[in-house]
Amino acid sequence: MNNNKGRRNFIKKSAVIGLGATLSFDAVLPVVLNATGKPAVLGGRPLVGAPWPKWPIWNRETDEPLVLEALRSGVWSRAEKVTLFEKKWAALIGAKRALATVNGTNALITAVAQSDIGGGDEVILPPYTFIATLTAILNAGAMPVFADVNPDTFLIDPEAIKKKITSRTRAILPVHICGLPADMGAIMQISKEHNLVVIEDACQAWLAEIDHKKVGTFGHAGCFSFQNSKNLPIGEGGAIVSDDEAFMDRCVSYHNLGLPYGTASARPGSKLRLTEYQAAIGMVQMERLLPQTATRNENARYLVQQMKTIKGITPHTLTPGVTQAAYHLFPFKYDQRFFANLPRAQFLKALQAEGIPCSGGYMPLNDIKNLGNTFETKNYKKMYAASELSYERFKENNQCPKNETLCHEAVWLPQNVLLANKEAMDMIVSAIQKIQKNAAAIKKGTV
Ligand SMILES: *Cc1c(COP(=O)(O)O)cnc(C)c1O
Repeated sequence: MNNNKGRRNFIKKSAVIGLGATLSFDAVLPVVLNATGKPAVLGGRPLVGAPWPKWPIWNRETDEPLVLEALRSGVWSRAEKVTLFEKKWAALIGAKRALATVNGTNALITAVAQSDIGGGDEVILPPYTFIATLTAILNAGAMPVFADVNPDTFLIDPEAIKKKITSRTRAILPVHICGLPADMGAIMQISKEHNLVVIEDACQAWLAEIDHKKVGTFGHAGCFSFQNSKNLPIGEGGAIVSDDEAFMDRCVSYHNLGLPYGTASARPGSKLRLTEYQAAIGMVQMERLLPQTATRNENARYLVQQMKTIKGITPHTLTPGVTQAAYHLFPFKYDQRFFANLPRAQFLKALQAEGIPCSGGYMPLNDIKNLGNTFETKNYKKMYAASELSYERFKENNQCPKNETLCHEAVWLPQNVLLANKEAMDMIVSAIQKIQKNAAAIKKGTV
C-alpha cells in the first residue's frame, strides 16, 4: 500500500519535471535478484512484481489540454493540428516533408503506389516482418520476392538481396524490424547499382539512426506507424517521410481522394487523412519519445551485456554504425540445447510465469495463405502468367532457411519492458538463469 502510494507520488512529481521522466519503479521492485528457488511455472514465487509501465502512457495534466482543445473546437477533420504534427515529425526525423496517414499500413500502400510500382514489378522484402509490409506490395499488384535475413541482426541481409535481383526488380522494402536499423549503406549501394526504389518500413523504428542519421531518410521514402502498441502511440496513425517534393505531392493527392495537390495532377486515390484529435494525441506522445528512446537504448545495452553471460542465450547484434535503435522489441535467440532441451514454447511460459512479458515473435511471412489466395484473384490472373502464379513454385523460389531457424529460436521482450529500471533488467537475467537451472524439472513438469 505504502509502496504504491510512494510510486504514485513519485510519478506525479516527475511528471512536472518532464514527460519522459515519469518512469521510475524503485518503490515497487522487490530486491530478490538471485536465481534460487522454485520456478514460478512450477508453483514457486515469481521473481518480478510487474514493474513494467502500462502502455500507452497517459498523463492527465500534461496530455489532456491539447486533446480537449481539439475536441472542443469542433474541428475534427484534418486541419492545422495535423499539419503541425507533420512539420514536427519531419523535423524530428530530419526529412524535408512528412505526410500523416490513417495508419502505417496505408503509409506503406501509399508510398509503394506513388513510387510507380505495379503489376509485373518485383519488390524485395524480408520474410521476418509484420504482414503489412507484404500487404503494401500485394495491394499494388506487384510480386513479392523474399530475401533471407542475417540471423545475428534479425534483419534483411544485403547479400541475399543481391541474389534476388532480376530484370523485373523495381524496389526494395527493407524493414527495420524490432526498431533495429537495417544495413542502409549496403542497401542504398545496391539500389544505386540497379536503379531501384527503396522504401523503408520504419514502422517499428522511430528515431533509430545510423551514424546519427534517422532511418526513414536513407531510402526514397520512409514509413512509420503510430498504432497503439507502437513507441509513439496514437491508437491508429502513420506517416510517410521523404525529401522528394514531387513524390510527396503525389502522396498527399493519393491520401485525399486523388485530388490535385501541388505538382501532382488528379490520380486514382483513397481517403487516408488523420484527424485533428489524433494529431493532438500524437504531439503529446511525441514529447516522450526522445527520453524514452534513450532509456530503451540504455537498458538494451545493459541487457545485451548481461545476456551474453548466459550460455544458450544470444542477444541480437546491431548493424555497424548504428548510433541509436528504437527497440520496439528486444529480440534474442534461445538455444534449447543449453536448457536441457526445454522447447522454446515452454521456456516462454516459464519466463512469463516469472513476470517477464515475452513472446516468440513472427512466423515466416513467405508461407502465409494471403499469398496463394492473392495469386488467385482476378487482377493477378490478368497481370501474370499462370506459371508465375503457382503458389508451390513461389514457395520453392522464396525459401529463406535462415529465417525458418530464426523464427523457431527468437524470443521478444516488448518495448515497455525496456522502460523499467536497471534492477528490473537484472530480474530478467535472473529469471532466465532460474529457468536454466531448473530446465529439466520444468520440462518434466515437476520439481
Ligand atoms: C505496425 C507495423 C506496420 C503497420 O502499421 P499499422 O499502423 O499497424 O498499420 C507495418 N510494418 C511493420 C514492420 C509494423 O510493425
